Amino acid sequence: MGSDLKSPESQFALELIQFASELATRIRIETSVKSIIKLDHSPVTLADMGIQAIAGALLEQYLPEAVLVAEEDADYLRTPEGAEDLEEITGYVHSFFPHARPDRVCQWIERGQGKPTDSFWTLDPIDGTKGFLRGGQYVTALAFIQNGKVELSAIGCPELELQGHKALGKGVGIFATRGRGCSAASLDDLENPKKWVWLEVSKCREIRQARVLDSFDPEHKNVEKNRYIREVLGTLSDPVSVDSLAKHVIIASGGAEIFFRTLPSREPGHREKIWDVAAGALAIEEAGGRVTDLEGRELDFGAGLTLARNPGLVATNGFLHETVLEALQKVTKS
Ligand code: AMP
Ligand code: MG
Repeated sequence: MGSDLKSPESQFALELIQFASELATRIRIETSVKSIIKLDHSPVTLADMGIQAIAGALLEQYLPEAVLVAEEDADYLRTPEGAEDLEEITGYVHSFFPHARPDRVCQWIERGQGKPTDSFWTLDPIDGTKGFLRGGQYVTALAFIQNGKVELSAIGCPELELQGHKALGKGVGIFATRGRGCSAASLDDLENPKKWVWLEVSKCREIRQARVLDSFDPEHKNVEKNRYIREVLGTLSDPVSVDSLAKHVIIASGGAEIFFRTLPSREPGHREKIWDVAAGALAIEEAGGRVTDLEGRELDFGAGLTLARNPGLVATNGFLHETVLEALQKVTKS
């Protein structure tokens, strides 16, 4: 950390995850969180849109030329039915940016409608919206991608406490840069370089002892196949279900060893959105772990909005990666 924290890129990333966590936490406490169902049936909340607006406003301030590829758009907020929600979002954004007005908020959200190029930022304002709605884990995930590789990532995890770093308390921010490691700090102390701690994956090499994380949502995986893979692996403890990239952060901090995402049987062609993976993948790799697709291939973030060339995901502490890939192969062949 240190001087890293002073660049406009770091300031943008860290201020964003700090504001995002504040906004999401306030929305969760102050309102009964309303969810609007999108055309693809996934839920979106006022917090998702508010955070994306904050990202647009911060980019204007720190990196006016940058391209942002983010999950949300302002189409609904620009309709008459969305007017009341837009007012409410503007009220929240106003407390961070006093020049916020409804039209400006829509423009800031739309700043995130950029297209992937050689170098761009990608943002999931709230990854794990279902977790956010049910009081579970959710994160704000930001990554900078250059020539298909993740170069920097920041993840705000308002509800997460890291087992190995309890002194940070609940609510942590994660920051990783390629080749320079992965670190964490309390979301209340992000601007103080002395408060950051380095994260390292677990040293576990014994598959039976490995702790496996799983996606909560049965629609995001092949439930039967996941069970079979765990049987083949012979892990002793039950998998722990966690929403969002909080799973990746737990692995990066040594709190678990394995997460794999198989393809749902009703949708074998599913490919991950880049903003659902990029920030977590760099955090794990920089903490010493490994992340590939289900076939063991490196992730290619240069294929558009999705990881079009990479089916599924395998994330581990590194030591157990080959063992998991072998189990996957065995299950696929059987
Ligand atoms: P989860 O790990 O279940 O919390 O999911 C994390 C993110 O991946 C969410 O943004 C989901 O929308 C997305 N996701 C993962 N798998 C699928 C899938 N099969 N269909 C739709 N979205 C998915
Ligand atoms: Mg997401």
